[in-house]
Order: sequence, then C-alpha cells, then structure tokens
Amino acid sequence: MSDCIFCKIINNEIPCEKIYEDDKVISFKDISPAAPVHILIIPKKHITSINEMSEEHIELIGHIFVVAKMLAKQLGISENGYRIVNNCGEQAGQTVKHVHFHMLGGRNLNWPPG
Ligand code: AMP
Ligand code: ZN
Repeated sequence: MSDCIFCKIINNEIPCEKIYEDDKVISFKDISPAAPVHILIIPKKHITSINEMSEEHIELIGHIFVVAKMLAKQLGISENGYRIVNNCGEQAGQTVKHVHFHMLGGRNLNWPPG
C-alpha cells in the first residue's frame, strides 16, 4: 500500500532498525520505545488490522508467534517475561493501519494496562 509507513519500511523506502526478516514477516525496533526491549513484528502483506484477518491468515498468525518466541530468546527476555500486544482500532490506540504486534520486555510491565 503506497501511503502506508510500514509498507515503506518493508520496501526499504524508509529506514528501520531491523531485527529479523523472512519471506512472510519483518521485525524492527519501535521508534518510540515504551520498554528497554520494544520491537514490532509485522506481516509483509498489507493487512489493516485484526478485523481484516480471516481463515487464510491462520498460518501467518501462527508464524508471527513462533518468530516472536524466537526473538524473545534472542533478545534475552524469554526468562523474565515479555508482553505481545496488538492494538486494533481507534479506542485501542492503533495509529498505524498495518497490522503489527508489539513485543515489550526488559522491565516489569503493569497489568492491566492503562
Ligand atoms: P500502534 O499505536 O499500536 O498503531 O503502534 C504503532 C507503533 O509504531 C508505535 O509504537 C510507533 O512508535 C511505531 N512507529 C511508527 N513509525 C515508526 C517507524 N518509522 N519505525 C519504527 N516504529 C514506528
Ligand atoms: Zn502497509
């Protein structure tokens, strides 16, 4: 999608601090980190939000979580714990309309979130 900031990152049109990439997903550091470890994991295919996901995306969603687990270990937050967050829609605070999963760790995370 031409006016999507995350599609531009995927297409190397704007830079990012890349952590991981394969044929289905890419992961990079959040530009405005909310924790010592704060990365985003996103599908390369432009999907606006969880609301636009269906049966055809089941394998992709599973893949994202397997990658997340692998990156948590690589980033050293597996043992102490981490949080994977998806904000879907206005009231959840979704600002980028390309589905993405935040992975946060490296400090105590409050629950419930604000
Ligand atoms: P959300 O509010 O759930 O839509 O999350 C969007 C996230 O994308 C925010 O945490 C932003 O800090 C992050 N973000 C926006 N632009 C960039 C960028 N160019 N590179 C890395 N992260 C970004
Ligand atoms: Zn996009």
